[in-house]
Amino acid sequence: MREEKAVVVFSGGQDSTTCLLWALEQFKEVATVTFDYGQRHHEEIECAREIAQELGVSFHVLDMKLINQLSANALTREDIEVKAGKDGELPSTFVPGRNHLFLSFAAVYAQAIGARHIITGVCETDFSGYPDCRDSFVKSLNVTLNLAMDAQFVIHTPLMWLNKEETWKLADELNALDFVREKTLTCYHGIRGNGCGECPACELRKQGLNAYLDKKEGGKAK
Ligand code: ZN
Repeated sequence: MREEKAVVVFSGGQDSTTCLLWALEQFKEVATVTFDYGQRHHEEIECAREIAQELGVSFHVLDMKLINQLSANALTREDIEVKAGKDGELPSTFVPGRNHLFLSFAAVYAQAIGARHIITGVCETDFSGYPDCRDSFVKSLNVTLNLAMDAQFVIHTPLMWLNKEETWKLADELNALDFVREKTLTCYHGIRGNGCGECPACELRKQGLNAYLDKKEGGKAK
C-alpha cells in the first residue's frame, strides 16, 4: 500500500464506489469529493455520503450547480426525458464538458488537501459517447493539470478498459460484490440497488451483473 493520499471522484454509483474500494486497497489515506450539480435525485448525494461514512473516508461536496447555467440536460431537468443516444447522437443525459470540469475541480481540491493521486471511474468501453470519458482526454488533462498547477498529479482510471461485467468482477475481487449491489445508486430514477430495472443505466448495470454472475456460477459448476 502506498503511503500517499488519494482523492476519489465519487458519486455513490457502482463505478465510483468500486473505484473507492480499489483506492482503499492502494492508498493509505483516501478522501472523496462529490459534485452537487443539481442532480434530479438529490438521493444520489445522500447515498454517496452514507457509503463514505460506512467506509470511514472523508466526504466533501462541491457545489457545481453553475454547470446548469451553461446547458440543459436530462440529469438535472425534470422536463427532459432520459433517453439513449441513437445514430451517433449523444444521450439526453450528456452534460458537455462535465468530466473535464469535475476532474479539474477535483485536482484543485486534491492539491488543497495534499493529495497527489486522483481516481475517477470514467470508462471508455461502455462510454455513451462522452468525449471527456476517453483515455486520451484523461491523459491529456493530466498533463495540463500538472502544467497548470505545477504539480505531479497522477490520475488513475481503474475502470477505463473494463466493461460492466468486468467492473462487477473487480468489485467481487475487492470482496465487495454485495456491498456494491446493495448500497450504490446508478438508476436515473433515484432508486438504490437494483434500481427501476428499466432506464438505460439500470439496463447496463443489470446486463453486466447477469453476465458476470452467469460466468461465476458456470465456473463453480465445472
Ligand atoms: Zn433505473
